[in-house]
Amino acid sequence: MTDVVLVGLGGAGGIAAHVLTAAGAEVVALEAGPRRSAAEMTFDEIRNDVREWLAEPKARGELPTFRHSADQPSGPSPYPMLMANGVGGSTLHYPGLSARLDSWDFRHWPIDYAELEPYYALTERTIGVTRDLRRTGWTELMSDAATRLGWHPHAAPAAIDAARCTYCGFCTCNGCHVTAKGSTDATVIPRAEATGRLHVRTGARVVRIEARRGRVTGVTYVQDGRVLFQPAGAVLLGGFVYENVRLLLLSGLGGDQVGAGYMAHGTPNVCGRFPGRRLNLFSGLWSQATCVRDFEAGMLTASHEFKPIAASNLHPPSVPRWGAAWKAWLQANAQSVGTVSGQLETLPYEHNRLDLDPHQRDPYGVPVVRVTHRLGEHERRGFAFLRARMTEWLREAGADLTWAPDEPSVDARHCYGGTRMGDDPATSVVDRWGFVHGLENLGVLGASLFCSTGGVNPTLTVQALAWRTATRLTTSDMFSDRKPTVFEESA
Ligand SMILES: Cc1cc2nc3c(=O)[nH]c(=O)nc-3n(C[C@H](O)[C@H](O)[C@H](O)COP(=O)(O)OP(=O)(O)OC[C@H]3O[C@@H](n4cnc5c(N)ncnc54)[C@H](O)[C@@H]3O)c2cc1C
Ligand code: SF4
Repeated sequence: MTDVVLVGLGGAGGIAAHVLTAAGAEVVALEAGPRRSAAEMTFDEIRNDVREWLAEPKARGELPTFRHSADQPSGPSPYPMLMANGVGGSTLHYPGLSARLDSWDFRHWPIDYAELEPYYALTERTIGVTRDLRRTGWTELMSDAATRLGWHPHAAPAAIDAARCTYCGFCTCNGCHVTAKGSTDATVIPRAEATGRLHVRTGARVVRIEARRGRVTGVTYVQDGRVLFQPAGAVLLGGFVYENVRLLLLSGLGGDQVGAGYMAHGTPNVCGRFPGRRLNLFSGLWSQATCVRDFEAGMLTASHEFKPIAASNLHPPSVPRWGAAWKAWLQANAQSVGTVSGQLETLPYEHNRLDLDPHQRDPYGVPVVRVTHRLGEHERRGFAFLRARMTEWLREAGADLTWAPDEPSVDARHCYGGTRMGDDPATSVVDRWGFVHGLENLGVLGASLFCSTGGVNPTLTVQALAWRTATRLTTSDMFSDRKPTVFEESA
């Protein structure tokens, strides 16, 4: 028996482990992936970005299926979905852009910005969020252009140790070779393990949450081919959006709202050619960026980190995709192409949801999640609006040619909902603290709690919410014999 079992030790689970162990809790973390080391993090775009090796242990074999509407058969997703598996979760391979939501983003939430603000501050101090990454010709060019347009550009907030970062250009889809990221494997998890109260089991896949008479009793998991039961006083689910929903559905817990309110960020982008300029965007990292947050529709970002294979696709539609003309265009222009991208806020629609696919199973014979999702009129207008702003921005900075994909793009790795938080069990799965209605010792961590997407990257909010949920647990009756923890010293 342990006080708390954590399902998944990623961005959210790592934070919860830190908060719980600091408060004196004994915690068992069951993580499906392995521990990764800095030495494994080589500069290999094919392994990292194309094959997405960090998703091999679990996510690849359990990829959700996709359909645009309930009357269609499900099939492979047209959008990127893969997340990383390992101690640190998907923060292993994120470039750490760590922005807070705005106060208006909480319009449809049961909590407001003020309620989350202290947890934002604690998380930022603890994982090391800075605006001090090196500025470059590109970030300054775009900053000056935005200022001329009357906007308010700023350096991206990034969970990166600016002094240690080598600006290697292989940050996204890869772990850090010098441990400069604020990924949870490098920040909060070692602290939690140093207390002696965090017990990490890797290669441990949770397959079911067990409950009896209105309380969860623990989880069943598989490790090295053996089926085991871990009893616990409380369970916190931190397996990322798709797995949180899948485990609740497979366990028959959470009610009929599980899976409702699914959303994924729209990610418009526009490219521009800057004739005669060498922009050197292959160096640096995605969160070494100039951001603009003047528009409610979502944040705009001018970033670095164009790896060779990705950059070879950044040409206007008039240029062929292969052959001599393509090579000649790249030779003349590849160093002079810059892009800006957006994080378009999307809405929860009745028709968008997650459920178990009756026709598709993972290699263990368990149904995978099925996504039913299509964008609405709000998103189509949002795309058009943000694209127009991005084009304006690039032109103002000196681009003589701009182009963008015709179809709106969606990033299903920035996905949300499915265990929405709320005060009314008829329209939500968890309460305002993140605990499942009617099951007070089962908490959920992650973006599955979100009621709307907001227009910025999710993880800082995911982590602030996880800090708050874990804190709530430590102040429950279960912990009445432990001393309360004060976290001002977390930096
Ligand atoms: C390429 C890429 C770049 C990104 N960049 C950014 C960025 O710059 N800024 C930002 O804010 N966000 C970014 N994100 C999103 C960010 O990575 C996630 O929001 C964040 O990691 C989510 O945290 P989580 O704890 O919910 O899930 P994860 O961090 O994915 O952790 C979930 C963990 O649970 C484990 N797990 C799952 N199921 C089970 C099970 N059944 N049993 C045991 N363990 C299980 C998984 O192996 C995993 O380790 C990026 C994502 C991707 C893919
Ligand atoms: S860009 Fe910096 S933080 Fe990212 S992997 Fe390279 S050295 Fe690490």
